[in-house]
Amino acid sequence: MIALPQPLSYAAYLECARCKREYSLAELQNFATCCHQPLVVKYDYMPGFFKEDLLFREKTMWRYYEMLPVFERKNIVSLGEGMTPLLPLENLAARHGFADLLLKDESFNPTGSFKARGISMAVSKAKELGVERCIVPTAGNAGGALAAYCAKAGIACTVVMPAHTPEIFKQECLLYGAELILVNGLISDCAKKVEELKKSQSYFDVSTLKEPYRLEGKKTMGYEIAEQLDWQLPDVILYPTGGGTGLIGIWKAFQEMLRMGWIKARLPRMIAVQSVNCAPIEVALRDPLHWKDHFTAQPSLANGLAVPYPFGMDMMLEVLQASNGSVVSVSEEDIVAGVKEIASAEGILAAPEGAAVWKALLQLRNRGLIDPADKILLLNTGSGYKYLENLQ
Ligand SMILES: *Cc1c(COP(=O)(O)O)cnc(C)c1O
Ligand SMILES: [Zn+2]
Repeated sequence: MIALPQPLSYAAYLECARCKREYSLAELQNFATCCHQPLVVKYDYMPGFFKEDLLFREKTMWRYYEMLPVFERKNIVSLGEGMTPLLPLENLAARHGFADLLLKDESFNPTGSFKARGISMAVSKAKELGVERCIVPTAGNAGGALAAYCAKAGIACTVVMPAHTPEIFKQECLLYGAELILVNGLISDCAKKVEELKKSQSYFDVSTLKEPYRLEGKKTMGYEIAEQLDWQLPDVILYPTGGGTGLIGIWKAFQEMLRMGWIKARLPRMIAVQSVNCAPIEVALRDPLHWKDHFTAQPSLANGLAVPYPFGMDMMLEVLQASNGSVVSVSEEDIVAGVKEIASAEGILAAPEGAAVWKALLQLRNRGLIDPADKILLLNTGSGYKYLENLQ
């Protein structure tokens, strides 16, 4: 590996996503208490970071270290996350008349999902800031990832997960040496349990967007999409949305690359894909102020999509608006059918969340809302192997 300059990162400060008030990077932070919104990492671009610099870098998400928030190399906790393949879905494209259909396959990540990106970043920063014990409410994949990266970092880990989650998500946490607590309900009920546990013991809470760094890990998908497409972005990106970190993160990466002159506008339309069983974005788009008053949700076999009250809702709505995007919801039957279609046509066993994205694309095409001549990029966020129990 090539010796890296010090300091590694151009990270400058944190800011409140709403009022832009500044918070210090030097201490542990959760969210912006001024507006009860996520905190966002802001960078100094002055010293210069050029896309040509990437040429001989390692094939992980850490290749973008200047635009990531870790200051010392020794604090990076990595299991090889990122630089996942961008696969052309030639058979599905031919069958359904799409000109240019790509899948960014995040199932290649450690612990079998893209949660590895965010958690690698959060655990690295937790290590840098001296955290000894982490806790997370999870729909499944974030718990396994946190357990694995905490094991590597020597940090204690507690995972709080819905009891109905497939067995493998529980077993992996235990194998990685985490404490596992099961709750009857959805991830929002797990979050309540986390709040309760935090009263009696000190934990660092790495809930989605309630600490600033998982977002920085997830944004590397945006950098990779640009780099792997030789800096020519797709016309449309479809993303399976739960807490929304990936949606917000990919968009943040695009803004940063615009400022650095790495890419040019127009940016892709961002499409959030949800499960019909839990579709808060649809409700919030219609009624941004009071949607929570009349919202109900059920579990989904795409566990990662069952996030009833995402903390980053306002940021997601901003991305959809700024990108001229939209939201689509997919039924449970369609999700199962989608897993089978992708597997039998392409040899890829996608997570139900990834399959939802494929079915959402067909819905948009049938409603005339997507041009099949466009360059379309789908995200498969995890491995279907972890969900076999859900698919029987
Ligand atoms: C967590 C998860 C999602 C949702 O990701 P967010 O960034 O929280 O929106 C989608 N797919 C899979 C497989 C997940 O584990
Ligand atoms: Zn604020």
